[in-house]
Amino acid sequence: MGIVAKQFLSVKPSLTKAMTQRASILREQGRDIITLSQGEPDFPTPVSICEAGIEAIRAGNTRYTAVAGIEPLREAIIEKFSRDNDLNFSADQISVGCGAKQVLFNALMVSLNPGDEVIFPTPCWVSYPDMVHLAGGIPVPVSCPPNTGFKMTPDVLEAAVTNKTKWLMLNSPSNPTGAVYSRDELNALAVVLRKYPNVWVLSDDIYEKLVYGDVEFSTLAQVAPDLRDRILTVNGVSKAYAMTGWRVGYGAGPGQLIKAMNTLQGQTTSHTSSISQYAALEALKGAQDFIAAFQSTYQFRRDLVVDRLNRIEGMSCHRPDGAFYVFPDCSGLMNKQTPQGKLIKTDSDLTMYLLEEAGVATVPGSGFLASPFIRISYATSTTDIERACDRISSTCSLLK
Ligand code: PLP
Repeated sequence: MGIVAKQFLSVKPSLTKAMTQRASILREQGRDIITLSQGEPDFPTPVSICEAGIEAIRAGNTRYTAVAGIEPLREAIIEKFSRDNDLNFSADQISVGCGAKQVLFNALMVSLNPGDEVIFPTPCWVSYPDMVHLAGGIPVPVSCPPNTGFKMTPDVLEAAVTNKTKWLMLNSPSNPTGAVYSRDELNALAVVLRKYPNVWVLSDDIYEKLVYGDVEFSTLAQVAPDLRDRILTVNGVSKAYAMTGWRVGYGAGPGQLIKAMNTLQGQTTSHTSSISQYAALEALKGAQDFIAAFQSTYQFRRDLVVDRLNRIEGMSCHRPDGAFYVFPDCSGLMNKQTPQGKLIKTDSDLTMYLLEEAGVATVPGSGFLASPFIRISYATSTTDIERACDRISSTCSLLK
């Protein structure tokens, strides 16, 4: 009998982090590796936000805070929801945690009884199945192929609901596909959800600010206010404000759920760093103009990477509406042979080949429960995107 508990043995480390780690090892060996596997903005945190963190230290705001988060930050979150999403919350309906990740995990931990099912459309973020599993629930991945824009349709949702369903997890814009649910698409899902009053919805809006062109962001609680009593809306500062390392995320929803999440957090991490909370306060309340600059840079890069990948024989890449990922279909590259005589049978084989031969780190679609795809993050410089696409193209052309 080892030291690690049974229920933990099946939990896998995040595949995204595994790829990034392998890339670092190769880099340490002197290889020139371009990392397109990372899910974080390449921009530095804006100076005004950093200054607010520094000022928090100077002002002595370095002690324990309220478990749910400092009051001014919760007030700023309430203002944000009202300004951006037409949603009204009170302070006891807000929980601030160590990133959206902890908020999602807290919600699942306090709500799932053994055997409760959690539906989520796939491709999905790598952490959902493991989080559900860890919280004692049963993950119910529901395949949503490219012909539905990788989105869940009402009939597919209805077919997945059982009397054990506790949550539907929605993520828009999506990691890894960049798919964005329109108001109408959310309304259509709401029609089904009205029939099943025991199903709650976890809306993971972490990429809210990263939508391109005329695309508008909508969230379920805004579109279907009558369902608000069973929706937890989760967001954070990581992606919009280039603050991944500060670890601030938040959830807003029914008081009873929030209270339980805060109790769990109080017994585990207590709260996220006081310094980060003051920086997040500046992010939400201060100037927002750099978000538009981030958006236009990402949009330019998205178009560049989509155009370049579509020129590669065997790859087919949709043009996503949001986030900073593309998720090209690589079926045309399967069952081909590398110059070393190795058969590319899976998207993991392909990402390994691209890493070892082209020096480009990407993530296999299998990590997001969809194959054969690869996920490419374009949260990196235009030069690196161009160099990486050149290398992917020439390495793929060697496959026979
Ligand atoms: N949700 C999705 C879909 C993500 O892709 C990520 C991060 O990659 C998170 C949540 C977690 O974000 P945070 O940094 O706020 O924990």
